[in-house]
Amino acid sequence: MTQPVAITINAGSSSLKFGMFSTTGEIAELAVGLVENIGAAPRLRVSFGAGGDRVTQDLSGYQAADHQGALQTALALLRDRIPDAQVRAVGHRIVHGGAAHAAPVQITAPMLDTLRALSPFAPLHQPHNIAGVEAAMALFPDALQVACFDTAFHRTHPKVNDMFALPRAYYDKGVRRYGFHGLSYDYISGELARIAPLLHAGRVVVAHLGNGASMCGMLGGRSVASTMGFTALDGLPMGTRTGQIDPGVTFYLVEQEGKTLDEVRDLYYKRSGLLGLSGLSNDMRTLEAADTPEAAEAIDYFVFRIRRELGALAAALGGLDAVVFCGGIGENSRLIRERVCAGMDWIGIELDRARNADNDMVISTPLSRVRVMVIPTNEELVIARAAHAFLSAGDGQAAAE
Ligand code: AMP
Repeated sequence: MTQPVAITINAGSSSLKFGMFSTTGEIAELAVGLVENIGAAPRLRVSFGAGGDRVTQDLSGYQAADHQGALQTALALLRDRIPDAQVRAVGHRIVHGGAAHAAPVQITAPMLDTLRALSPFAPLHQPHNIAGVEAAMALFPDALQVACFDTAFHRTHPKVNDMFALPRAYYDKGVRRYGFHGLSYDYISGELARIAPLLHAGRVVVAHLGNGASMCGMLGGRSVASTMGFTALDGLPMGTRTGQIDPGVTFYLVEQEGKTLDEVRDLYYKRSGLLGLSGLSNDMRTLEAADTPEAAEAIDYFVFRIRRELGALAAALGGLDAVVFCGGIGENSRLIRERVCAGMDWIGIELDRARNADNDMVISTPLSRVRVMVIPTNEELVIARAAHAFLSAGDGQAAAE
């Protein structure tokens, strides 16, 4: 007997997240994992099902020299543990879907060309995503390949929130506020609809705080505004990214300091944010444990920008009914949540410190006008569900033929 499964692939610059989900009936997680440091000192981590086995392995360079190698090594382990799995679909996280894609699509050869054509919009991410697609197509030529876009959830932005104040021709060329982390926001929106439908119908700000960080204002579960813009550099400061920065700084660095654009890009994406400010680390756990004034200032800046964006997004939504924290920092850091919510009674937030310390799902007091929640996000499940939906639609067509 074989077990039909969908694989999920989320390919970053030097990492590859993957999952395997049963597609028999309701979608169910069989395994999720990560290969990090691809091409350098790669390491594989996998966990099998909720509460199941966890495996961590250091890999040799040749086992994960590139994304295809990393995927093959990860799949070999999955096949060993789940030998009856038959891969029917592969779902891919694709950072950029451009203005046209508000939903997942099946990846055909022409669609792959469309994805390649969008690479200039996300040159640091899209090529890796495409490498993941090519690797999966080579390994599973008969499986359905599905693209799930990080930008798609934000295509409901009103135009006023989609524009920059540039001459109009640039909007038409695609210079717009796309917004990212859409798979995470999609998941949170779905969870809110399930656990708190009244809040889902209302005005919600979701703070996805991880190594990449952004916030999204939702009305009725749909994105109205987000902190990321044309690229995933805008908005909140992140592990190594600046977040919002005056474009005049770029002119200064190029004209006065003689930096090349590549050097500025490297500075903004890889050496700034929490790492740049602290001079110590991009990792919030390290900063929370450190006792240097620079680490404290990096945290201060992170919290300040989140609070500022919270106010801005509440204004864009015309008020606030709920705040949801997710991402590695949002789900785990009591300190950051407490500091973001401190003194926010003016907007209706009253934090329950004991619940916050316990990492409860609801961390506001019963009397707080705004409900504050912690909901672990699950981008892999959103991708798997999309792949499953395409499979079911295909099966439906096959059955009808
Ligand atoms: P992500 O990119 O979503 O995996 O999130 C990574 C970030 O979450 C890193 O900055 C981690 O330091 C942070 N993080 C994970 N666990 C904790 C924790 N218990 N306390 C504070 N930060 C955490």
